[in-house]
Amino acid sequence: MQEFDVIICGAGPAGSTCALGLFNSGLKVALIDKDSFPREKICGDAYGGYSFKILNTISPAFGKKLLELKDGLVAKRAKLISPKGHVVEIKLKGFFANLPRVIFDDFLLNMVKEETTTTIFENTAIQKIDVSNEQVLVKTSLGKVLKAKVIIGCDGSHSIVQSALTHTRELITDTCPGLRAYYKNVKNVEADCLEIHLLSQIPKGYFWIFPSTNGLANVGIGCDKEVLTKHKINLRASFNHIIQNISPFKERFVEAELVGDIKGWTIPIGYFNSKLPISGTRILLCGDAAALVDPSTGEGIGPAMSSGRYAAQFIKICFEENNFSAIFMKGYEKLIRKKYYRNYFLKTSITALYYKFPFLMNWAIYLIANWPLKKNNIHK
Ligand SMILES: Cc1cc2nc3c(=O)[nH]c(=O)nc-3n(C[C@H](O)[C@H](O)[C@H](O)COP(=O)(O)OP(=O)(O)OC[C@H]3O[C@@H](n4cnc5c(N)ncnc54)[C@H](O)[C@@H]3O)c2cc1C
Repeated sequence: MQEFDVIICGAGPAGSTCALGLFNSGLKVALIDKDSFPREKICGDAYGGYSFKILNTISPAFGKKLLELKDGLVAKRAKLISPKGHVVEIKLKGFFANLPRVIFDDFLLNMVKEETTTTIFENTAIQKIDVSNEQVLVKTSLGKVLKAKVIIGCDGSHSIVQSALTHTRELITDTCPGLRAYYKNVKNVEADCLEIHLLSQIPKGYFWIFPSTNGLANVGIGCDKEVLTKHKINLRASFNHIIQNISPFKERFVEAELVGDIKGWTIPIGYFNSKLPISGTRILLCGDAAALVDPSTGEGIGPAMSSGRYAAQFIKICFEENNFSAIFMKGYEKLIRKKYYRNYFLKTSITALYYKFPFLMNWAIYLIANWPLKKNNIHK
C-alpha cells in the first residue's frame, strides 16, 4: 500500500492550486484525477482578477508563469445588460482572462508537475473513502488502496469526498444548472469584453457571450435550479429560443456556427444557504466540492483556487500541531467563512431581491449607467 501525508482528490483549479500551495511543505502529497489531462471542463472560461494574485502569493515564480501564458485573451471590460437593454460597462482591473479550461487546467497541473514533488495519478478515480481517527484509506479505480493522514476534496460539484464527509449530497440546496457552447461567426463580439445579459426569459439567471480563442465565442446560460422547476423552464430550449428568436441575439447569431456540442454541468452556489460542512476529521473541501461559487456572477475558478491555497496553508498547521480532529479542522471553515461570508451573503440577498422585484434590476442598471460621477470606471 502506498502511503502519503496528503491526498488531494481532483486536479482542477482547486486541487492543483492546493498542490502548489504545499510545494515547500516537505509533505508527501498525492494528486489524483479521474481524467487524463488536458481535459475539457464545461465553463464560461472567464478568470477573475485574483487567479494571478493567488498564484503570486504562493510564489512570485508561479504568478510570473501565469502572466507568461500567451494563449488567452485579456478581458479589459465587462458589460452588464439589463432585461430592458440598459448597459453598464465596467473596467476590469488586474488579470482578467478568457482562456479555454482545457488549456488553463492543464497549465496549472503542468506547473504542479514541474515545480513540486507531488505524485500525480491521472486517469484514476477515487471510488471509496474510509476515514477513521487514525488514517484515511482510499480505493482507486485501478484497484489500489492508498493511505494518508488527510484528504482534501477538490473533486467538483459531484464530490465523492463531500459524500464521505456528509453522507448525503442533499445538503447543497442551491445549485444552478448551466449550459456552455462555442460558436464561430457570432457578430459584434468584442475581443476584450465580457457580456453578461440578464433576461426576462431566465429570472435569477444569466446569459453570457464571452470572446474566446481562435475567433470563437463562449456562449452560455445559467439559472437557479428552483426557479427552473418553479417556472417549468427548460434551459436548453430557452438557450436555443434566445439565440434564434430574441433580438439582438437572433441577428447576431444569424451566421453563427456551433463548434462541438452544447454541454451542461452544475454550478454549486449553496454553501452559505445550506448546512454543508466543509471540514471534518481528516477532511477538507475546496472549490465546487465546497459549493463556493459566487452567487451573483457564477465565478468559481477564483474561489476554487483561493480555497485550495487556504487548505494548503491550513494543512501545514495541522501537521505542525499533529492535530486532524474535526474540532481543529473547523479552523479552515472559519477562514473560508471570514473570506466569503459577508460578500456572498450580500450578493445572495441582492440576487433574491432582483428576482422578487425584477423592475429593480432594470432601474438599478439604468441609474448606474446614467450616473455621471462614475464615468471613469463605469461607462454607459
Ligand atoms: C456552465 C458553467 C459555466 C461556468 N463559467 C465560469 C466562468 O466563466 N468563470 C468562473 O470563474 N467559473 C465558472 N464556472 C464555475 C467553474 O467552472 C467551477 O467553479 C470550477 O471549475 C471549480 O473548480 P474545482 O477545482 O473546484 O472543480 P473542477 O474544475 O470541477 O475540478 C474537479 C476535478 O475533480 C476530478 N474528479 C471528480 N471526481 C473525482 C474522483 N472521484 N476521483 C478523482 N478525480 C475526480 C474531475 O475530473 C476534475 O478534474 C462555470 C461553471 C459552469 C457549469
